Amino acid sequence: MKPNFSLLSRLIVLQCLSVLCCSQDFDFFYFVQQWPGAYCDTKHSCCYPKNGKPAADFSIHGLWPNYKDGSWPSNCDPDSVFDKSQIEEVIGNMEKDWPSLSCPSSNNLRFWSHEWEKHGTCSESELDQREYFETALKLKQKANLLNILHDAGIKADDGFYSLKRIKEAIKKGLGFTPGIECNVDSRHNSQLYQVYVCVDSSGSDFIECPILPKSKCDSQIQFPKF
Ligand code: AMP
Ligand code: AMP
Repeated sequence: MKPNFSLLSRLIVLQCLSVLCCSQDFDFFYFVQQWPGAYCDTKHSCCYPKNGKPAADFSIHGLWPNYKDGSWPSNCDPDSVFDKSQIEEVIGNMEKDWPSLSCPSSNNLRFWSHEWEKHGTCSESELDQREYFETALKLKQKANLLNILHDAGIKADDGFYSLKRIKEAIKKGLGFTPGIECNVDSRHNSQLYQVYVCVDSSGSDFIECPILPKSKCDSQIQFPKF
C-alpha cells in the first residue's frame, strides 16, 4: 500500500505548530527569595528604594518557570509588557516583599518589569500578570524563611552556619528541600544569598524540586546582618 503522504505531512505540520505555539510551556517554578544583607555587602553594593531601607527579612527575587532538565525559558512574549495597573491593589505588599536593591538608583517598577518580561511571560499559560505577582506574594507568606531559620537557632548575626544545617532547617520547616545559592562578600566569605523552593506549575503548592540549582556554597556559610 502506498503511504499516505498527505496525512503524514499534515501530522508533521501539526507537530511543528505545537512546538512553535507552546514552546513557553514549563514544568515547575523556582520561587527565589533573597537575603538583602548578602546582596548589599558585596562589591557592587546596593541602593534602597525611595521609601527607605527594606525590613531585615528575605525578599522576593522572582518566580521563575523552569524545565526538569535544568534549563529554563525566558522572554517568552515581547507583546506582553509590564502593566503597573495590574498590581495596584497589592502595591503595598509588593514594596514590602519585593523591593529592588540595585544601583545606581533602585527602581522597584524597573525590577518588577524585568521579572515579568524575562520570567513571568513564560508562565502566561498558567498565570496572567496580576495572578503572577499575587502568586509570588502568597508564596512569600507561606514560606516564612526568617521564622523557620530563627526557630532552628540560625540568625542573621554575621555568624557562620553549616550549609547542611540550613538546608535541614528549611526542609523541616517547609517540608521540602531547598536549593541554596551563595555569593561572596567583599572579604571573600561565602554567604547565604538566595533560597530556591520549587512550586508546581499552577503556582499553588510547594513540591520537591525536580532538579536543584547549582549551589556554589562553602560547607560553612555566613548569614550576614542587614
Ligand atoms: P546567575 O548567573 O545564577 O546569578 O543568574 C543570573 C540570572 O539568570 C538570574 O537572575 C535569573 O534571571 C537567571 N537564572 C539563573 N538560573 C535560573 C533558573 N534556574 N531559572 C530561571 N532563570 C534563571
Ligand atoms: P534575573 O535576570 O531575573 O534574575 O534578574 C537579574 C537582575 O536582577 C540582575 O541585573 C541583578 O543585578 C538584578 N537583581 C538581583 N537582585 C535584585 C534586587 N534585589 N533588586 C534589584 N535587582 C536585582
